[in-house]
Amino acid sequence: MNTKKRIIIFGATGSVGTTVLEEIACFREHFEVVGVSCHSNIECAEGIIKNFSIGAVAVTNSRISVPKNLCGKIFRGIDGLTAMVESLEFDILVVAMTGIDGLRVVLRAIDRGKTIILASKEILVVAGEMVMNLAKNKGATILPLDSEHNAIFQCTRGDNRFIGRLWLTASGGRFWNQDRQTIENATVTEVLRHPKWSMGKKITVDSSTMANKGLEIIEAMHLFGVEPTRIEVAIHPACTVHSLVEFCDGSFLAQLSPVSMKYAARYCLFYPKRVDAREQSLDLFHLGDLQFFRPDLEKFSCLKLAMEVAQGKQSQRIAYNAANEVAVELFLEEKIALKAIPEIIRDTLTKMEDKNYTTLEEILAVNQMARSRAGQLAKRFF
Ligand code: NDP
Ligand code: MG
Repeated sequence: MNTKKRIIIFGATGSVGTTVLEEIACFREHFEVVGVSCHSNIECAEGIIKNFSIGAVAVTNSRISVPKNLCGKIFRGIDGLTAMVESLEFDILVVAMTGIDGLRVVLRAIDRGKTIILASKEILVVAGEMVMNLAKNKGATILPLDSEHNAIFQCTRGDNRFIGRLWLTASGGRFWNQDRQTIENATVTEVLRHPKWSMGKKITVDSSTMANKGLEIIEAMHLFGVEPTRIEVAIHPACTVHSLVEFCDGSFLAQLSPVSMKYAARYCLFYPKRVDAREQSLDLFHLGDLQFFRPDLEKFSCLKLAMEVAQGKQSQRIAYNAANEVAVELFLEEKIALKAIPEIIRDTLTKMEDKNYTTLEEILAVNQMARSRAGQLAKRFF
């Protein structure tokens, strides 16, 4: 009998996707990759398909041509992801693609009661209530792969009853202790040179503006059912403590591991067990000082804005994410300065109504509206 867990990985060619695949390669006797998705990077996908003998691929960018012999089954476009989830037998879906395009298919997989290993935080930011409620009703398991949330999950093991406060740690990116002018005038090359983490471009920019931590506050409030006022952020440049839980009785638990997504990936893949990896990952005698600093909310106004929208209605959270995405794309195209990103988010938020939504169609429509408003508002910074 085949006892291997069958896995689909969306965003397999990305930074997180390849880390998950590296872990699977270390423990091949436990897992079988049955399907992967990429957006445009056919060459990378081809290598993965051969290496893991994968029978199905989804190429989400419908504008590029795909060789017929790439894989046994080839799905095309964003709808191809849904077709893949509907037609393949699998146990775990890993979601590691940028943006919210995966939202519909994630809801489909949850509806089928599957286990979801979720890296794509944007999905929880825009539709956290819907995703978590559906998972509860259908008995689907959501395992957080984002390192901070994974750390918290390792501390609580799914029991959120005794959480007093959550402490999200932040690397602070490249600029946390720099002056305002240096941050505001930073170039794309400087921003993409993260001191600790090697990640995709979008999240690396988010890390330098601390919008990433803002998104993570909203992600945490949905995952762990904690009000945003009980979620704190601490800059921890060493990136050894990945986050902490302060329990209601005053005790803290923290999760530590080296600066790599592989430990979070490994925990999710083997959950609820732990694999014996026979590895000493940290040398306590050489860790040095574990320091924590309070973030400067005036310097990092994206973080401050996220704290506000976390307490507001869903339309504000959708708009925050959408405006940030648009602004980051423009920054990466060198059309706007880094300092314009919070301005574009703020301007977009003021143009949105304050509302919660119950359907996916409403969420996607509001996201589209916020994106186009942000695009218009950004023009004053060109
Ligand atoms: P990357 O940019 O490295 O990879 C993105 C992946 O998504 C690639 O496989 C890419 O395909 C695919 N992709 C890109 N655009 C689209 C699209 N429009 N539709 C469908 N698929 C698309 O990103 P990361 O791996 O850094 O991040 C992925 C997600 O994980 C993000 O939501 C991020 O916030 C989250 N995350 C990342 C962490 C990290 O350490 N990198 C840590 C925690 C969370 P192709 O390669 O073909 O372009
Ligand atoms: Mg994170």
